[in-house]
Amino acid sequence: MMDGVICFVGMGSNMDDPAGHCLKAMHLISAADGVNLLRSSSLYRTEPVGCVEQNWFINAVAEIRTELTAHKLLKVLQDIENNMGRVRTEKWGPRIIDLDILLYGQDVIRDENLVIPHPELHRRRFILIPLCEIASYVIHPAFGVSIRGLMDRLDDEGIVDKYGNVEA
Ligand code: ADP
Ligand code: MG
Repeated sequence: MMDGVICFVGMGSNMDDPAGHCLKAMHLISAADGVNLLRSSSLYRTEPVGCVEQNWFINAVAEIRTELTAHKLLKVLQDIENNMGRVRTEKWGPRIIDLDILLYGQDVIRDENLVIPHPELHRRRFILIPLCEIASYVIHPAFGVSIRGLMDRLDDEGIVDKYGNVEA
């Protein structure tokens, strides 16, 4: 399939078996209609952001090609979150799985349901490190700077350690 848009999806979990949840989400994304999984980053063990006392996270990034619009892709990702048993509680709080659209081609989208590029992308080590592993050359369409360039300018001291490779 050569049609479609290249997108990057960020995932994170810090409940029960976070690595297992990320791998399951990766699998469900690859199985979704209209979505092809192209590459996945390693898993990373990351320090939680914010003041909520909670477990460390596992984070990863998937590169996909999709025929879906950004809003339809969001719906697919939210269905996966719900099917995996996510219950929405406090912002920044513990979660079974969080799936965020980081980039949708070079589109810039800002409406009440969807902000792309993801507003935290350039600020978070736990997003930039896995994204840089698989797509350091990608240009952030709002800043005109590569992912590598955003990493070089990053001011986030959060710890991000490689946890393991994804067996796709
Ligand atoms: P967060 O990811 O900020 O911790 P949630 O996963 O609960 O919080 O998402 C809250 C809302 O964020 C979703 O209902 C969705 O409409 C919105 N949203 C805005 N931009 C994005 C994006 N790029 N990817 C995923 N969700 C997004
Ligand atoms: Mg989210």
